[in-house]
Amino acid sequence: MKAEGEPVVFMNSREGLTCGVCGKTLERDALVVLDQEDGAKCLSCSKLDHLVFLPSGSAVLSRRARKNSALSAVVLKFSRTRRRNERQGILVEEEALREAEEKCLADEDVRQRRRERDALRREELDTAYVKRFADEIRRIYPGCPDGRELEIAEHACRKHSGRVGRTAAAKEFDPSMIELAVRAHIRHAETAYDELLSEGYPRELAREEVKVEIERVVELWEKG
Ligand SMILES: [Zn+2]
Repeated sequence: MKAEGEPVVFMNSREGLTCGVCGKTLERDALVVLDQEDGAKCLSCSKLDHLVFLPSGSAVLSRRARKNSALSAVVLKFSRTRRRNERQGILVEEEALREAEEKCLADEDVRQRRRERDALRREELDTAYVKRFADEIRRIYPGCPDGRELEIAEHACRKHSGRVGRTAAAKEFDPSMIELAVRAHIRHAETAYDELLSEGYPRELAREEVKVEIERVVELWEKG
């Protein structure tokens, strides 16, 4: 495994540290290698300065970048509060990181295309469902004015949108669902219900008021 013998690099948390080889000042958060002989060494003296830092965050990206990289290193930082070294990310070859990023972008692309395909499929299912719903309305209410069956079906399906398309394909229609949708439509389109509401009638009273009218229209539509 690559992890074995993989160099460990520390994010410097000490003040006034200098590279044991070139003497350069190592700033806070500078990446350093701790060597038994030379003490702290800068990346350049450790021959790791061609690597780029990839912070932890995306497990997939990190795994891919590391796999592509001939040489990689783990970056740790000592936490004073928790008194332990904590992983900050990895060092990998720039080219390896670029390749990994491209692969992840391609994945995202694939996912995006799949989402679009699913949405399209759902839309098709919804359209087919609405059509069958409308046909069923037309069958039960042959006297329903032209085009109204589609209006009712579309409205009813929009109310259950998403849910409908996915489950409806194979499912039979519940007759009471059609009846409810048709009656609701008649209430709004063929009676004074909405007007009564806008005049401040309580909902229940308004419903009571238009009941007879709804029944009259239903009968008319059923007869054809
Ligand atoms: Zn150095």
